Amino acid sequence: MLNVNQKIRTLQPYQPGKSLDVLFRELGIKNGVKLASNENPRGPSERVKNVINGGLSELSRYPDAGGFTLKSLLAEKFRVIPDQITLGNGSNDVLELAARVAISPGTNAIVDEHCFVVYPLAIVGAQGLVRVVASSDWGHDLDCMAKAIDGDTRAVFIANPNNPTGTWVSEEQLREFLDSVPPNVWVVLDEAYYEYARGLPGYPDGTRLISEYPNLVVTRTFSKVYGLAGLRVGFGVSSVEFGELMNRVRQPFNVNSLALASAEVAIQDDEYVAASVRMNAEGMSRLCDRFEELGLAYIPSAGNFVSFDIGGDAMPVYDALLRLGVIVRPVANYLMPNHLRVTVGQPQENERFLQALEKSL
Ligand code: PMP
Repeated sequence: MLNVNQKIRTLQPYQPGKSLDVLFRELGIKNGVKLASNENPRGPSERVKNVINGGLSELSRYPDAGGFTLKSLLAEKFRVIPDQITLGNGSNDVLELAARVAISPGTNAIVDEHCFVVYPLAIVGAQGLVRVVASSDWGHDLDCMAKAIDGDTRAVFIANPNNPTGTWVSEEQLREFLDSVPPNVWVVLDEAYYEYARGLPGYPDGTRLISEYPNLVVTRTFSKVYGLAGLRVGFGVSSVEFGELMNRVRQPFNVNSLALASAEVAIQDDEYVAASVRMNAEGMSRLCDRFEELGLAYIPSAGNFVSFDIGGDAMPVYDALLRLGVIVRPVANYLMPNHLRVTVGQPQENERFLQALEKSL
C-alpha cells in the first residue's frame, strides 16, 4: 500500500454537476440546459462583463495578494474592518482555510447528515474526524449538534440555507445555538445563498453576529447570485484573530486579477442582485406549483435550487432527463437517493425542465 495519509483514501472526490460539454461528448446533445450547479442563470451583469474585457491587459501581472480594494469594499458593506475579511478562490477555499486553522489531527468537527459535501472533505483534509448529526425534517438539528460537542470538538459547520436541502435556521435558533456553544469551538456559518434567503422573516445575517460571537466565521460567495462561479471568488468574515490565522495558510495569490476586478464591481450592483432574486422567486414558485400538480414531494427551499422526491431511486429519472438534454443533480451522495436537485433557471429553462420531467416520470 502507498505510504500516504490513509484517511484520504476513505474520501470520495467531489462530484460536480455534469457540464453541457460533457452532455454533448457523451450523448451528442447540443442544446441542453444545465440546472445542476446552483449558478445564476442570468450569468454575470453587463457591468462585470465590461470589467472582464477591459482587464485582460493586466494578466501578465500578479494580482494584488492582499485584495486591498475588494476587502475595503466588503469591509464597508459589512461594517467590519478589512482584517476581518479573508478572500478565497471561491468560498470553498475559505471553508478549507477555516478547517485547517481550526482543526488539528485527531480533533473533530460536527456536520449535519445532509450537509454540503465539501465540509467532510475539508475536515478530513485537515486530519480531523467528522462527527455527523442526524437531520430533523431535512434541516440542521442545532440542539443535537450542540449536544454532540465534546472536549475534542474544534468546529461546527452550518450552511444557512443548506445545500442540497434548501432548509434554513432562524436568527432565534441560531442565537440559541451560539449561546450554547463553548467559546473555544469555531462555528463556520456558510451563507453561500444568503442573498436568496435574506427576505425570509427571521432569517439571520451572520455577519452582524460576529461582534457578539467572536467564534463565528461566516462565508459568502460571488458564485451564486453574482453569477461569477467560473471566476472563483468568495470570502470569509470573522474576528481579526481568526482572519489573520487563515491568512497564514492562504496561498498568496489565491484570487486572480479578473476575479478581484469583477467582484469589486459586482458587490456594488444591488440592482442586479435584486433582479436575479426576483427571477429566482418566480421560477421557484413555478417549479414548486408544478411539483404539487405532479404529486411530487419537495423540500421547501430558501436557495436558488430545490430538491424533489421521485418516490424511489432517482437515477432512472436523472438519466431520462439527461437524454432529453436537461442536466439536474443526483444527490445520493448526500444520503438522498430518492431526490433530485434542480437549480431554478430562466423561465424557458424551467419550462424545458418541467416538460422533460413529465416525460421522464
Ligand atoms: N457552500 C455551499 C452550501 C454551496 O452550495 C457551495 C457551492 N456549491 C459552496 C459553498 C461553494 O461555492 P464556491 O466555492 O463557488 O463559492
